[in-house]
Amino acid sequence: MNLAGRHRQKSLELTLREGQGKAQLSGRQGVIRYAKPTTVDEALALLGEDRWRILAGGTDFYPAQGVKPFRANILDINGLAALRGIDETDGHWRIGARATWTDIVRHPLPVAFDALKAAAREVGSVQIQNVASVAGNLCNASPAADGVPALLVLDADVELRSVKATRHLPLGDFILGNRRTALQSGEMVTAIRIPKRSAVGASTFVKLGARRYLVISVAMAAARLVIEDGVVAEAAIAVGACSAVARRLAGVEAALRGQPFAVALGDAVLSAPIEELSPIADVRGSAEYRQDAAREIVARAVRAAIGLGESKVAV
Ligand SMILES: Cc1cc2nc3c(=O)[nH]c(=O)nc-3n(C[C@H](O)[C@H](O)[C@H](O)COP(=O)(O)OP(=O)(O)OC[C@H]3O[C@@H](n4cnc5c(N)ncnc54)[C@H](O)[C@@H]3O)c2cc1C
Repeated sequence: MNLAGRHRQKSLELTLREGQGKAQLSGRQGVIRYAKPTTVDEALALLGEDRWRILAGGTDFYPAQGVKPFRANILDINGLAALRGIDETDGHWRIGARATWTDIVRHPLPVAFDALKAAAREVGSVQIQNVASVAGNLCNASPAADGVPALLVLDADVELRSVKATRHLPLGDFILGNRRTALQSGEMVTAIRIPKRSAVGASTFVKLGARRYLVISVAMAAARLVIEDGVVAEAAIAVGACSAVARRLAGVEAALRGQPFAVALGDAVLSAPIEELSPIADVRGSAEYRQDAAREIVARAVRAAIGLGESKVAV
C-alpha cells in the first residue's frame, strides 16, 4: 500500500507551528493541532478535550481564512467515512454530515426532495458540489445558503453530537442569525434528518441570481405542495437571502391550503401576507427589489411544483 493509502486508513494528528510562512511540527507553546480522525467517537473525544475549527469540504472554511495564519486547532472530518452516507431509518431520511451536494443529486430520493436536488445543482460549480457538504452549508449560516430553504420545507432537523450527548434541533432553531448557529463547544453536526411524514408531495427550488450560473443568490425560494382530491392539503414555503436566516412563510402557506389545484395557485401567493422577510440592501439588490422578487419567485416555485413554470431566474 502506498503512503497516501496508509494515511487514508490511519487517523492523523499533527502539531503545527507557524514559522516564517511555513507550518512546522513542534511540541512547544503557541502551536496549533491538526487532527484527521477516522471514527466519529475519536472525533468527539478530540472535541471534548480541546477547542477546534471543523474542516469539511473547505469551500467556506478556506475563503473565510484567506491568507491569515491559522490560529485555531483544525479538526478535519474528511476521514469520517461513516458520515458520508445518505440512508433511511423507520422514521427519517438521514443525510450524513460529510455528504456532498453531488451525493444529494445522485442518491435516489422521493420527489419531495426535488427542491433539495435542484438547490444542490445550484451550489457553485460541479467542482464545488463534489467536495462541499450540506452540513457545512448550514453550519456556515450564510443568509444566502441555498440549502436552507429546501431543507426548511422538508421540516429538517440537525443532529448534534458531543462526547456527552446527542440532541436534535429543528433547522429553524439551529441557525440563529447571520453566521450564528446553536452549535455548542464540544459539539459537531453528525447528520441532517428529514422526517418521512414530510418527505411527501412535490417540491421545487427557484434561485434568483445576477447571472444564470455560478452565482450567489439575490433571493431563493423552495415550495413543497401535497395535493389531495384536487386541493392543496399541505403547503410548505421558504425564502432565503431576504432575512438574516431563511424563513418559512406562514401567511402564504395558509393562503394556499385548501385551494384547488390550478395555475391560479400562483396568484394566491401574489395576494397573500408576507411578514417574515426583512431584506437588506447590498451589491446584489435593494431591499425593495428583494421583497418584490421574493413574492414573484415564490409564485413561480408554487407553479413549478404543480408542473408549470421555470425554476431558474436571472435578474
Ligand atoms: C466558488 C464558490 C461558489 C459557491 N457558491 C455557492 C452557492 O451558489 N450557494 C451556496 O449556498 N453556497 C455556495 N458556496 C459556499 C459553499 O460551497 C457551501 O456553503 C458549502 O456547502 C459548504 O460546505 P463545506 O463542506 O465546504 O464546508 P466547510 O467550508 O468545510 O465548512 C463551513 C463551516 O461549517 C463548519 N462545519 C462544517 N462541517 C461541520 C460539522 N459537521 N459540524 C460542525 N461544523 C461544521 C466549519 O467549521 C465552517 O465554519 C460557494 C463557495 C465557493 C468557494
